[in-house]
Order: sequence, then structure tokens, then C-alpha cells
Amino acid sequence: GGSNVTPAIKQVKLEKECELRIEVGNDAPLRLRLLSGTAEIFGTELPPEIWLNFPPKLKFAVFTWFGATIEMDGATETDYTADETPMVSYVNVHAILDGRRDRAKKSPSDDPVLSQGPRVIVVGPTDSGKSTLSRMLLSWAAKQGWKPTFVDLDIGQGSITVPGSIAATPIEMPIDPVEGIPLEMPLVYFYGHTSPSNNVELYKVLVKELAAILERQFTGNTESRAAGMVINTMGWIEGVGYDLLLHAIRTFQANVVLVLGQEKLCSMLRDVLKGEPKVDVVKLQRSGGVVSRNAKFRQKTRSSRTREYFYGLANDLSPHSNISNFSDLFVYRVGGGPQAPRSALPIGAEPAADPTRVVAVNINRDLLHTVLAVSFAKEPDEIISSNVAGFIYVTDIDIQRKKITYLAPSAGELPSKYLIMGSLTWLET
Ligand code: ATP
Repeated sequence: GGSNVTPAIKQVKLEKECELRIEVGNDAPLRLRLLSGTAEIFGTELPPEIWLNFPPKLKFAVFTWFGATIEMDGATETDYTADETPMVSYVNVHAILDGRRDRAKKSPSDDPVLSQGPRVIVVGPTDSGKSTLSRMLLSWAAKQGWKPTFVDLDIGQGSITVPGSIAATPIEMPIDPVEGIPLEMPLVYFYGHTSPSNNVELYKVLVKELAAILERQFTGNTESRAAGMVINTMGWIEGVGYDLLLHAIRTFQANVVLVLGQEKLCSMLRDVLKGEPKVDVVKLQRSGGVVSRNAKFRQKTRSSRTREYFYGLANDLSPHSNISNFSDLFVYRVGGGPQAPRSALPIGAEPAADPTRVVAVNINRDLLHTVLAVSFAKEPDEIISSNVAGFIYVTDIDIQRKKITYLAPSAGELPSKYLIMGSLTWLET
């Protein structure tokens, strides 16, 4: 005895349909492996015996359908076993969706209704587990060979690209529990703010654009059409937030609405969608494992997502610092400016702000530390209807020499000289 060294390695035996809920410690990563049995993390199976590394602060659960033994090496903030989970109800939803995919696949591909697989939208308050459920449904579908489309409408805590964006990407493989959604070539629209209330009209317009493009892609791709989509939404469910949910449901023509942990929202949606053809509104229980995150934590997550865009999750990307002349770049913002000059209006009339007007921005110190989107637009008036190629981060503005220094994912010329500015900033740490 006498040793004060606690063994770092710990084994946990999980009974069937139980999960091990873990919050990795704040400072050090955690190693974990599956010793025996089978287990999954949010729908993705663990490989047997291979050590996996989980970064500090990550919150996740290892679930087993039939029993498993897990080995952990490292400190955790918390880890405990739970035998009550809503996983059976979640996988039942998956089974129903799977049946609908099969039916869609067997239908004549020229029948646009029958050949359409399920369009699932996940709604609920903040921290109800929407992203996690979306992820499970996508991973379970991918495991069976489907390539469902993931649509993320959450501009605050989205999981496809930098905050302030809405995006879509096909999921071809179960989602890696550490790496998350693969970042290759998602379809991205830049809204520019982390709350829809900054410009509700613009948010709606971009949701419509994204839906229209996907619709067009589905027309030419029966495989992804049959696989359908899983749409993740924001946690804002009151007032305008509720209107935006309805708008998303209708715009994407969702036919399955999964409501997490909110009776009231569920019955409101059931009532209002009653008249609409074939929309199933399904209430699901929130998992007791979902961890609540406060405003500060959310801000930190946003910041690390931006960091991840430029540097990679494990600092494995090397962004480039580039310098351009002010005159080579054109920065725009959307909305805010008055529609017509006061002189053009009848006396006494106030100019109304047009929320979707594209306004040129003078390059000055205000741009310092902003994250700008690089638009695929060929003309300024195409900016709203164009998706974006990626993002740059402004690190210096030299007013005297009229030079702008920015970080970009790669060296060389930007794919376009049209940049979109919102209120999104980042402080490199
Ligand atoms: P938001 O409205 O902010 O987007 P959300 O409803 O999408 O939140 P999630 O992101 O799915 O909620 O979950 C919140 C946090 O809880 C995440 O860090 C997630 O990894 C964690 N979490 C979810 N389910 C579990 C579980 N069963 N055990 C442990 N952690 C979990």
C-alpha cells in the first residue's frame, strides 16, 4: 500500500440497453476502447479493442444494445451508467424511416411523390438532444447503405460548418464520434449572425434557397431522393422561433416531424399541420443524458467551430495568411440599409429597411476580426441566391497602404472577390 497513484485505467461493464455517459475533463483528453461485446456512440459502432481519443470537454454516451465492457484511460469530469434511455423509441423511429426508404427505392423513379424517401425534421427546445438524435438517425441509415442528406438549420450550434451558416451535406458513412460530420464540400449559405432575430426575412430566404437547390439535386439523384433527409433545427420554439420552425417544415416539405421533450410544441404542431397532407408529428422523450449548456459554453463552442474550420480539429490543417489590396475585394452585407433615399419618398414618410438588400461595405477597421464568407456569386445581385465557397478571417487592416490581411483555408486566389459580412467575429486564441 501507500501508493497515492490511482490506476488511470478503469473498466466498466454495461448491461444490455444501458449507456455510459461521459463528460471528458477540462484539460486532458480521454482514451476509451471497447473490450468486449458491442457498443455505439450516437449511432456509430465502436471498433473492437482499438483505443479512441476524445478531446477535453466532449460530452457523449457509449450505448450498448446487448452488453459490453468498456475501458477508459484518463480523467473525466463525470462518468456514470444509466439504464433508462429513450434509445428503443429512437431506433423504432429509424426502423419506420428505413421502411419508407425501401418503399421509395422500389417505386418508379419518375413518380416524384412515391420515390421520395422520408424528410425528417427534428424540433425541440435548446438542449433537448436534437443534434444528437439527428446524428443517430443519419448514422443508422448510413450503416444500412443509405446516403441521407443532413440539413443543419441551426445557425448557433450547427455541426456542418462555421456558425451563422445553414448547410447541407450527404452522409455516406456512420458519423465519426470524434471527428463529427465530414467537412468535404457541404452546400453552405451564409446568414452571418448567430441569432435569426438579426434578420428573420433573410433567414427565411436562405432556407428557401437551400431547399430549392436540394430539390433540384434530388430530381437527378434517385438514390439520395429515396434516402431522404434529416433536418436539425434551432432551439428557439416560441414566437418568431415557432414561425421559423413552421416555415422550415413547409419549405422542405418535411413529412416526419420529431418533437423532442415538449408536449406543448407537439400539440401545437399537430393542430396546425392537421390540414396538410401526410405529415406525421411524433413526440419523443428527451434523453436524461443531454447536457445543458449555458450561454458562455455556447459562445465557446462557436469559437472552437470557427477555429476548427481554419486549423482542423487536431490542428491538422494549415491555413494561409494572404494579403490583398482593398480594391481587389468587394465586401457586402445584407439588409439594414434604407431601401430608397429619403429624397425619393413622399414628405414625412420614413424609408423602410429592406432586409434582403445587398449593401456595399467600405473596407475599414470595422472588418478586423470578422469572419467573411466567400460567395460563389458572379454579380453582387446574385449574393443572396448563391451558396458560399468557404470563409476567411480578417487579421489586419492597413488603412494607409490599403491592404487587408486575412487567413484562408489555402493559399492562392480566392474563388471569388465577393465577400459577405455579417456580425460574426472571432478572436483567435
Ligand atoms: P441545441 O438546441 O443547442 O442545438 P440540442 O438540442 O441539439 O442543442 P445536443 O447538441 O444534441 O442538443 O445535446 C447537448 C449536449 O449533450 C451535447 O454535448 C451532446 O453530446 C450531449 N449528449 C446528448 N445526449 C447525451 C447522452 N445520452 N449522454 C451524454 N451526453 C449526451
